[in-house]
Amino acid sequence: MPVKREDVLKDENLIKNIEEVAKDTALLHGVLMRTKETPNSPEVASYAPFTLFPTPVPTVLFHQALAVQTHFNRLVDRVSQNPGFLEETLASTIKVDNFTARLFNIYKQVQHEHHPQSIVLGLNRSDYMLDHSPDGGTSLKQIEINTIAASFGGLASRTPDVHRHILKVANLPEECNNVLDNNPAAGLARGLAKAWELYGSERAVVMFLVEDVQRNIYDHRYVENELWKRYSKDGREVAIVYFRNGYMPQNYTSEKSWEARLMMERSLAVKCPDISTHLAGTKKVQQELARRGVLERFFPDEPKTVAQIRATFAGLYTLDMGEEGDKTVAMALASPDRYVLKPQREGGGNNIYGSEICEVLENLKNSTERTAYILMDKIQPVPVQNYLLRPGAPLRLNSCLSELGVFGAYVRCKDMVFNECLGHLLRTKSSEHADGGVAAGVAVLDNPLLV
Ligand code: ADP
Ligand code: MG
Ligand code: MG
Repeated sequence: MPVKREDVLKDENLIKNIEEVAKDTALLHGVLMRTKETPNSPEVASYAPFTLFPTPVPTVLFHQALAVQTHFNRLVDRVSQNPGFLEETLASTIKVDNFTARLFNIYKQVQHEHHPQSIVLGLNRSDYMLDHSPDGGTSLKQIEINTIAASFGGLASRTPDVHRHILKVANLPEECNNVLDNNPAAGLARGLAKAWELYGSERAVVMFLVEDVQRNIYDHRYVENELWKRYSKDGREVAIVYFRNGYMPQNYTSEKSWEARLMMERSLAVKCPDISTHLAGTKKVQQELARRGVLERFFPDEPKTVAQIRATFAGLYTLDMGEEGDKTVAMALASPDRYVLKPQREGGGNNIYGSEICEVLENLKNSTERTAYILMDKIQPVPVQNYLLRPGAPLRLNSCLSELGVFGAYVRCKDMVFNECLGHLLRTKSSEHADGGVAAGVAVLDNPLLV
């Protein structure tokens, strides 16, 4: 007899049984990660952390996120091609943020050089949370867009089968139909293949630029293997540099790393992303795009596109020096729990919340250092009960918050020749953690259960 999810969650014996089945099923379906202890050895792998059950997501909001993705692809691309906008927007940030400044220097260095390569490949992931307003409504709000090294498109293609199996074992079989198939890795490979074809050299390869510590290698392998389904080649000419590294200061271990980045930027290879697209993904740019009238500049003849994009924007506030920035500081100090303070960093675990916002802003409020940050409305999703499965960690019922990601790819070769929404990713974390992704060890893989 079919049962209710609430009852299943409380049935300790059943959960114990499902726990083991779930872990085995994840391994069987290739939801894999290397271990902390041996991150570079293919001899030992475990399951990538995931939720025991998929998380309910309203169908309408899910489709809203998918529908806006090709517009975000075009927006990122247009921002990347607008030097005036990038320079003006990042001017204050690069004075105080060394990492962004170094990226910007590369951008400036190549700006007036001859660009050997006009093909651009963008592989991005736009992330959202579902904001629950006091009046009871729920709306889709963008957290950020990642234009470099957006991950988990590979593993996300393997998790739906795992959750469907768990639902069957948990006697919730009818819910299986509400877990969609998903294969962002195939789409990422389609984008890479399109750019490779346009590059036009049979012998040229796609270079995956990866981190030294490769726990998440299986996520890369899915994309790589999707490409192998299309081609088999050897040779060393690089058609595409696909960055799965290079988004954090610590990825640049010495001056040599920066020289390498500049060298790649100057090369004939298609960069995914090129330096301007990397900069287009900064939080400062996100904040500027939310300012009144700015989206209209990028889509002057498309009020519907503007409306569709803007509907996903949360409140974003500048901390630039001046009256507007002063107002932001006052607002944040008055009710820090309503906001998130964000530096120009990626990879999770960098944002500032609650009383710490006050500490930081009290210190920086009259200093240009504050312009390294932006302030954002804190999104307030409704917590959902679930179990998080993590190698070595005891199972415990958690109150959880989820973040929906949508993958997009585009290729520009003079004009846009490819622009697609590729699939999705749901990540879930215990609500006691304010911040942090899967790679940071906080969030786990999940699937939307459409309701
Ligand atoms: P990163 O580039 O490091 O992933 P994010 O902007 O995605 O930076 O922030 C990291 C995490 O912090 C998110 O995954 C989310 O859990 C949380 N977070 C970020 N912005 C908000 C927000 N406006 N409201 C609530 N939580 C947020
Ligand atoms: Mg990010
Ligand atoms: Mg993020």
